[in-house]
Amino acid sequence: MKRPLHVGLTGGIGSGKTTVSNIFADLGVPVIDADIIARQVVRAGQPAFDKIVSFFGESILGEDGELDRSKMRTLVFNDKQTRKKLESFTHPEIHNEMNRLSEQVSYPYCIISSPLLLESGTAYKLDRILVIDLSESEQIRRASARDQSEPEEIEKIVRSQLDRKDRLEFADDIISNDKDLSSLQKQVDQLHMKYLAMAESRTGLEC
Ligand code: ATP
Repeated sequence: MKRPLHVGLTGGIGSGKTTVSNIFADLGVPVIDADIIARQVVRAGQPAFDKIVSFFGESILGEDGELDRSKMRTLVFNDKQTRKKLESFTHPEIHNEMNRLSEQVSYPYCIISSPLLLESGTAYKLDRILVIDLSESEQIRRASARDQSEPEEIEKIVRSQLDRKDRLEFADDIISNDKDLSSLQKQVDQLHMKYLAMAESRTGLEC
């Protein structure tokens, strides 16, 4: 069987990555979501969990024996060294799991969704990069409404991420998410046909 086409999906905070991924998933497309995997690899009993607890100590655990995410956030916030240390425990596990899942795909293409696809580079071979594009003011509006957080908090995150213009320079395909959900559905439908055709026209056993 031909290797499935790997489509990396990314975009800034609140741009609509989850919404778009869900539309692809509804069409039957396998979606590998780095955010979900990142949460799984730090669950109690997982290899990254053991390393994190050995390094940071048991005080970072909540009463349920799982990592206390808000304590972790406080620890790594504004401390680059600590964040790097944490990432050295989690990133290899996330990459291993994403590779494992992408090797299991038996569909012409798959979506690999990651907020930091462009910022932190990727260990996977991506055939296309799909960027979800939205104005920064609308990103802030939607994400703060969704999370019930202060717009200033979201704005800080927007500023820490890749600039909209720079992100678009990496894009092979772009979804504009500045209209309603039916516009989003239409754009996903079009890309779905395009990716199926691209996957079909690939020759031989590529890997
Ligand atoms: P994050 O980076 O924080 O994980 P995300 O990129 O996955 O966010 P979503 O959670 O999909 O973004 O979307 C952000 C919010 O905007 C959600 O509440 C979602 O329902 C809403 N949203 C997404 N697309 C649209 C749209 N076209 N019109 C109105 N609201 C939308």
